[in-house]
Amino acid sequence: MRDFFGKPRFHCTSDGCTCGDFQPLKQKILEEEGEEAVSRFKSCQGRSMVELTCGTCGHNVSDHALKPKLGRLLADPGPASYKVTAHGVCFRKPGFDPAQPKILRLTGLTPGTEVLATGLLWRGQQGGLWAELRRAQACALRIKGGGWLLVEAAGDDFGVQGPLLEAAAGPVEWKKGEFHVLDEDATPPPGICSASGKKE
Ligand SMILES: [Zn+2]
Ligand SMILES: [Zn+2]
Repeated sequence: MRDFFGKPRFHCTSDGCTCGDFQPLKQKILEEEGEEAVSRFKSCQGRSMVELTCGTCGHNVSDHALKPKLGRLLADPGPASYKVTAHGVCFRKPGFDPAQPKILRLTGLTPGTEVLATGLLWRGQQGGLWAELRRAQACALRIKGGGWLLVEAAGDDFGVQGPLLEAAAGPVEWKKGEFHVLDEDATPPPGICSASGKKE
């Protein structure tokens, strides 16, 4: 997931480590022991230790790659939102890391359904283009928890021709050289479902 500074962090590069995705120790403690346990790390040193250590493998955040193992992240930001095209079908990678092979097929989507994206784009090794989802989405999309949606496949890899998503907004604005600082949990506009599925 993203680190304290907003950079995406993928697999661990430390020798022999099989950790697939950075998760701050802070989040792990929060989930397993609650907020009080986290508040024990009050000092500056303690706070940065729980933010910058991976709770899964114990290695430092800097040992976790800034790029997925396969494919490549695009340097320029993509649109902040998309609309589902007439295909009414989407393919979703549910994990933070788009290099993971798991893909879910979503069918019966109403064309025009809005999809909110972080602007981060990934070109898969087969050539398909994927857009990272914000964690909060319009209720109509029935997707929670982020991941990636296929914008356009290469050829007919997925049995569909042409784009599955079309841009509905301009590109997300990134400061020069800071493609990574966009908050994947950016507050959605009113009428949008939060990650928990509740309308805000
Ligand atoms: Zn590790
Ligand atoms: Zn790790």
